[in-house]
Amino acid sequence: MKLQRVALIAHDGKKNELVDFVKRHMAWFSERELVGTGTTGGRIEELGLKVERFASGPLGGDAQIAARITEGNLDAVIFFRDPMGKHPHEPDVNMLLRQCDVHNVALATNRATAELLVYAVNQDA
Ligand code: PGA
Repeated sequence: MKLQRVALIAHDGKKNELVDFVKRHMAWFSERELVGTGTTGGRIEELGLKVERFASGPLGGDAQIAARITEGNLDAVIFFRDPMGKHPHEPDVNMLLRQCDVHNVALATNRATAELLVYAVNQDA
């Protein structure tokens, strides 16, 4: 499983953690086609990576990424969710998670699982 097309999303309370995670796996991420929600994508671009950026999450970015999944154009979603926050776009987030399950797309919603995902793909190389 190569997981070539990867979406990156993080709620505000988790953005620094996602940036740190990507930094620690720069080689892995630089070999992939990245998409992201607006603000998260901007933070990842600051690391020097190329990211196709969608709208910010609360403005529909999660829904746009869900649509990509529906079209069969994404292999994995790394979404660092903040379980302590309240989010106006919760319905969009749930829709995105559901589309991952509908289309059997790899989904990591926390760092531990994201580490496993990167590790597993490296073993497969
Ligand atoms: P953002 O959206 O990257 O634009 O902040 C993420 C989200 O809150 O779903």
